[in-house]
Amino acid sequence: MTKTLHIVGGGMAGSEAAWQAAHLGVDVVLHEMRPKVETFAHQTGNLGEMVCSNSFRSDDDEQNAVGLLHWEMRAANGLIMSTAEQHRLPAGGALAVDREPFAETVTARLKALPNVTVSYEEITDLPTDGHWIFATGPLTSASLGQAIQQETGAEALAFFDAIAPIIYADSIDMSKAWMQSRYDKGETEEERTAYLNCPMDKDQYEAFIDALLAADKTEFHEGETAGYFDGCLPIEVMAERGRETLRHGPMKPVGLTNPHQPEVKAHAVVQLRRDNALGTLFNIVGFQTKMKYGAQTEVLRMIPGLENASFARLGGIHRNTFLNSPTLLDNQMRLKSRPNIRFAGQITGVEGYVESAAMGLLAGRMAASEILGRDLPEVPQDSATGALIHHITGGAEAKTFQPMNVNFGLFRTVDGLKGGRRGRKDRYKAYTDRAKAAWQEWLANFS
Ligand SMILES: Cc1cc2nc3c(=O)[nH]c(=O)nc-3n(C[C@H](O)[C@H](O)[C@H](O)COP(=O)(O)OP(=O)(O)OC[C@H]3O[C@@H](n4cnc5c(N)ncnc54)[C@H](O)[C@@H]3O)c2cc1C
Repeated sequence: MTKTLHIVGGGMAGSEAAWQAAHLGVDVVLHEMRPKVETFAHQTGNLGEMVCSNSFRSDDDEQNAVGLLHWEMRAANGLIMSTAEQHRLPAGGALAVDREPFAETVTARLKALPNVTVSYEEITDLPTDGHWIFATGPLTSASLGQAIQQETGAEALAFFDAIAPIIYADSIDMSKAWMQSRYDKGETEEERTAYLNCPMDKDQYEAFIDALLAADKTEFHEGETAGYFDGCLPIEVMAERGRETLRHGPMKPVGLTNPHQPEVKAHAVVQLRRDNALGTLFNIVGFQTKMKYGAQTEVLRMIPGLENASFARLGGIHRNTFLNSPTLLDNQMRLKSRPNIRFAGQITGVEGYVESAAMGLLAGRMAASEILGRDLPEVPQDSATGALIHHITGGAEAKTFQPMNVNFGLFRTVDGLKGGRRGRKDRYKAYTDRAKAAWQEWLANFS
């Protein structure tokens, strides 16, 4: 094996990975297909181009999980964060940047490193030897997508995400909802009570359908084909097909008895399913949607039991190439079947610029450590970066795996703190304090 690290894709993840590995002393070749081969969303040939919004979201590292990820990347000499700081625009508590100079600076800083070479070419295969990181993002080129699919199997690489909203378990009103699997199916008590059910009477259902039909929807981006399949139709499209369609689909009320009102038969039932091993997050089953975010929270809080729901992430359907990481990747982000290949960024099933850059940071450090023959302890699960990698490579349900933003639902709880909304501020402060200490301890392995 050669000692050079090859990184494919110079977006958020690939650029950060190259920067990190180069600073640890490894020679890096960064392969980027733009501007020779274009995507429908990128506009330039720059590295680190932001394809849509110019925001890295909240910069609050005490009360916000994304802000904490900023902090961790800054502590790790992150390229994306320090360049963002240089081109920061006023945006309240958010970190917004002037996108063109931002990407130009990312490109210039990488090219200025003596051990980084940028090679403008499309890579279309998974090489059998050498050290590689693939960070080709949601718009991975078609030929590479095919090569990945050949290696992983068709089921394990998706070309669209169909994300149902995810809710913090502790914000659900259990005086209205209850746990039960349809027809009490399952061998164990855990399986028989695997779903969380929210009942609706006829009036509530009709009002919900009216709200769905009236809600503001997001259109697909230009060039992004609306090729979603019948298996993952947005709920509002189902409602447009007929007012009863949802009642015969994801909202069917059969096989369930409401213990709060056993004598009343629900007209419709919304089911939620555990989204992580910790049991802190639940997704609404079959509720992928293209409703705008504001409309989504309003409409979904009409569901009995979800009136005060806090959303870890809202639903969406996008063009998005991503792996079923919980089954394919090990905890070092290596492809289990081809350990000379790592994946990083959005293709691993994280979502967003910041999360993608964070996964690039990890992959770059892990690959460099391997090349240098250094042992690296596991990334601490209590850090934001660690919570994300644990989620995508293990904590998430593989069968229903969909891309994930960083959020406090991915964190292990801190004992002895008050739950619910009232305790939130103290809880988040405790999570972020614990995360910072754990992350600094892990970073000390590199000094
Ligand atoms: C239309 C659209 C809008 C989005 N809007 C937002 C938003 O507003 N906010 C947000 O946080 N996230 C947004 N995202 C998600 C965003 O793409 C990611 O957050 C982030 O860019 C992912 O970083 P990445 O490094 O994984 O991928 P990218 O930044 O996309 O980088 C991947 C790179 O790989 C290159 N590449 C692809 N295939 C090959 C190949 N075979 N050989 C060589 N190079 C290749 C691409 O040209 C690209 O430069 C959006 C995504 C899309 C598609």
